[in-house]
Amino acid sequence: MDILVIGCGVSGLTTGLCLLEAGHRISIWAKELPPLTTSNIAAAMWFPYKAYPLERVTAWGKVALHQFKALQFESKSGILMAPVLEVKPSPGPDPWWATFVDDFHHASQEELPPSYPEGYGYEIPVIDTSVYLNYLMDTFHARNGRIVQRAITSLAEAFAQSAIVVNCSGLGARELVGDRDLHPAKGQVVRIKHNGFRRVVVDEEGPHGLAYIVPRTHDIILGGTYEEHNESVEVDPNETEAILRRCAHLAPAFSMVTNEDILNVVCGLRPVRSSVRLEAERITPDRLLVHNYGHGGAGITLSWGCAAEVVKLIEQSIS
Ligand SMILES: Cc1cc2nc3c(=O)[nH]c(=O)nc-3n(C[C@H](O)[C@H](O)[C@H](O)COP(=O)(O)OP(=O)(O)OC[C@H]3O[C@@H](n4cnc5c(N)ncnc54)[C@H](O)[C@@H]3O)c2cc1C
Repeated sequence: MDILVIGCGVSGLTTGLCLLEAGHRISIWAKELPPLTTSNIAAAMWFPYKAYPLERVTAWGKVALHQFKALQFESKSGILMAPVLEVKPSPGPDPWWATFVDDFHHASQEELPPSYPEGYGYEIPVIDTSVYLNYLMDTFHARNGRIVQRAITSLAEAFAQSAIVVNCSGLGARELVGDRDLHPAKGQVVRIKHNGFRRVVVDEEGPHGLAYIVPRTHDIILGGTYEEHNESVEVDPNETEAILRRCAHLAPAFSMVTNEDILNVVCGLRPVRSSVRLEAERITPDRLLVHNYGHGGAGITLSWGCAAEVVKLIEQSIS
């Protein structure tokens, strides 16, 4: 089938690749291409953060985890497996993904930063989006996928091109399909020079606020912020300082970060929704629309699982 995918972030590219793999002819239309998508701003680590519902997120996350582990061996993918220390302000139940990440264990007191009584260690993929999005685009082109930079204002434009359209427009779906549940959550991250630190450290809910350290192949991302309904992508210098302070609480190696160490500071808008919208909609007897958007803080984490489900939905609908 000829299928048109709207959006060239991680959702559109991964979906496009899985549809090519299933034997379809795929074009992508997108207002912005990498490196100018939200997906490029993500750190990114495999971490099911602020995406719902839990049961579907678990299934999609498992598929993607498996795929990222395989892709770490592709030299141009920008993916590496990294040890994680996730710290907790108080003891609580194990995270729900504890059973399927590698090497899950409770951290010893010596491993934990001061003022954190609890924490876990495990291993996850870190996806350097500055490399990975290019890798996806190159693979998509190499398999005869077509990418066109083009913004659309209505789905009618898309259906004039193809009877099957997949909507991977991220936050753009607010206008494109009038989705009032979809809204932004601003995130700011600081990219610094690599200092040899190799462990991911995450504090999702601690006394100092959201903080994470994500060493990638060539640099380190320090985060972060999560401001729901903030539409601005302006960098806030006060937040930069606060991020550096919070990361210094997590690991002493970051207590002396200077302006010279900072490569850049960027903000992006996570596409947050009460639940990821992944469903097929029969617009007319011969027009099929499949939605794949609203992945919140976990679009990379869920990408391969969601893309596989899009393929399944399309094949069920045309059989
Ligand atoms: C600071 C920050 C840190 C993050 N960290 C992580 C992380 O560690 N792990 C993780 O899994 N996730 C993380 N995320 C979340 C992740 O970035 C998003 O969930 C993901 O990028 C969503 O991908 P997407 O392809 O759906 O949307 P996008 O990347 O926004 O792509 C949408 C595409 O649709 C196009 N488009 C929109 N409207 C139209 C239109 N009308 N016509 C044509 N094209 C259109 C856009 O131009 C773009 O090409 C983070 C996000 C932020 C901001």
